[in-house]
Amino acid sequence: MSLSDISQQIAAAEADAGRAAGSVKLIAVSKVQPNERVSAVLDQGHRLFGENRVQEASDKWSAFRETYGDIDVHLIGPLQTNKARQSMALFNAIHTLDRPKLANTIARLAQEMGHCPELFIQVNTGEEDQKAGVLPAGTDAFVATCRDLDLTISGLMCIPPIDEEPSLHFALLKKLADRNGLTGLSMGMSSDFKSAIALGATHVRVGSAIFGERKAT
Ligand SMILES: *Cc1c(COP(=O)(O)O)cnc(C)c1O
Repeated sequence: MSLSDISQQIAAAEADAGRAAGSVKLIAVSKVQPNERVSAVLDQGHRLFGENRVQEASDKWSAFRETYGDIDVHLIGPLQTNKARQSMALFNAIHTLDRPKLANTIARLAQEMGHCPELFIQVNTGEEDQKAGVLPAGTDAFVATCRDLDLTISGLMCIPPIDEEPSLHFALLKKLADRNGLTGLSMGMSSDFKSAIALGATHVRVGSAIFGERKAT
């Protein structure tokens, strides 16, 4: 597949769901991909990418930004508090806000730095031990905690369990977002972005379907 195939499929899924054209943002997940594949997508004019490691993203995107100018890069992987400052300078959005300590750190740094990336709260919809994110039952309280810290939350993000029907998780995330007055929904990857769009995704995170398989890490 390619960027234009995926863009067409997104447009079709928006239309099928009765949603406005352009209401879904495509985050091209470039983690681990060779630079020439990433440049090929930049050369086609795409300017929104996702990375899951701070150091890898920093090395890669400082160079690409010099060549290509403004590029939106979103952090979609876990964030350690000791990398919060670097991440807030590097990323336009953080999709993985998942605990009070990190919220406190980001709030303090936002005051100090005078700006804050867009923030999504990661929800562990499958309640998996190995996965980050607040539990569904703790989501309302965590949104409130973030708001008490004067953080603006754009929406919620989830990564459904590998072996379950993702649409159940997308529907749960949508319900949690609605009842907290949040409009952003970061959900859907290469294998399931169409159902995510049907259930309200505003940001889909698609890697291998655009760039090809990743080398095992
Ligand atoms: C790697 C990754 C993706 C993209 O996965 P594909 O299956 O390659 O589309 C999306 N979201 C997160 C959080 C990821 O880590």
